[in-house]
Amino acid sequence: MKVYKFGGASVRNADGVRNLRKIIDDEQHLFIIVSAMGKTTNALEKVFQGVQQGDQALCREQIDALRDYHAGIIGDLWRGPAQLERVEALFEELERVAAGQGYRTEDAELWYDRIVAFGELVSTTIISEYLNYAGVRNRWIDMRRCFRTEQRHKDASVDLEASAPLLRAALAGAEETIFVGQGFIGGAPDGTTTTLGREGSDYSAAVAASILDAESMSVWKDVDGVLNADPKIFPDAVQIAELNYLDTIELAYSGAQIIHPKTIKPLQNKNIPLYVRPFGDKRKAGTVIRGMSAPVEVPILILKKDQVLLTIRSRDFSFVLEEKFATIFSLLERYRVKANLIHNSAVNLSLCVDNSWHIDEAIDALRGAGCDVMKAENMELLTVRGYTDELWQRYAIGPQVFVRQATQSTVRVVRKRE
Ligand code: ASP
Ligand code: MG
Repeated sequence: MKVYKFGGASVRNADGVRNLRKIIDDEQHLFIIVSAMGKTTNALEKVFQGVQQGDQALCREQIDALRDYHAGIIGDLWRGPAQLERVEALFEELERVAAGQGYRTEDAELWYDRIVAFGELVSTTIISEYLNYAGVRNRWIDMRRCFRTEQRHKDASVDLEASAPLLRAALAGAEETIFVGQGFIGGAPDGTTTTLGREGSDYSAAVAASILDAESMSVWKDVDGVLNADPKIFPDAVQIAELNYLDTIELAYSGAQIIHPKTIKPLQNKNIPLYVRPFGDKRKAGTVIRGMSAPVEVPILILKKDQVLLTIRSRDFSFVLEEKFATIFSLLERYRVKANLIHNSAVNLSLCVDNSWHIDEAIDALRGAGCDVMKAENMELLTVRGYTDELWQRYAIGPQVFVRQATQSTVRVVRKRE
């Protein structure tokens, strides 16, 4: 069994779906994980916002646009007006949910998951039906019943042990040897739908690969493979042929949008190689990620955007005491604020964190716990691995640099957005 994952950009239109069919053409045993088509998840986040703000016009506008967008893809795939009843039913259900009956602010994250999960439910329904129509027999798998997650919404992890028998049972005895399941979603122990964090489909595919003892996992992307930098920001980016798991985790953590950071662990446990391959050209090798690899010979530059720098000072100057750190980090954990870089001195603790809904609540809580907190917005975190003198001059110094941390090989810089 191999696991193939197709992201939203790959299946954003009918040509993409036809190309998916071409890519799987000669494969016999496949588990296919698909994301929501195109920018569907962003649109569903707006639907959620509509529910949150009681703005039904916003919900309607977004749902209508999503209906039209998917109908366009279906019409193109079936070459004429076609109606897929299962897709219709999903949109009707989405409308019912988006009416917001019984919405409570305390359950915002639960509602978020209920709503955004429709993107993957719709995309996999269309793709599974299209593949059957095009002669590729397959079975649609409901990942809400196969991936048991923790009881946590919006950024849940999958419980591998609890999920393994569920996923295996869903495949057992099937005449089909090709399966199509949703990325990004699962089900909590209480039966509600959960999501695994934005861009979480890679992680879904890795969990499926691990449970099914796949020989490999491939992520089909709109790039040739993993590059040493984002070509939109650093124009002389080049492709990397091989990476090992550890470097990949470092890169993903620093914000390289190669792969979701949670993807590697399930693969590493079973030593399953991960191929990042270009969706547009199956003949190209792409990048392979596995336990051992040749060393990477080019510097790697990663920019993590939308960061906030918090500078925390304890009013009693007690940063030398470890309990203070424990209090601070458990507060941050409570508000789901993740530190991407930590820098401390005797009196200050600086944290570079992802901008999120909860930062201001976390700051209030920190102040309540006896800390002064300064917040600097519009920051970026730049990581340069294998830096040269030239790169140091260009990126590690200058008035826009607020914090700099360097080892012999890697420098990380928190800087004001340009
Ligand atoms: N559709 C989800 C998102 O856009 C999950 C994914 O694409 O991996 O975040
Ligand atoms: Mg996506």
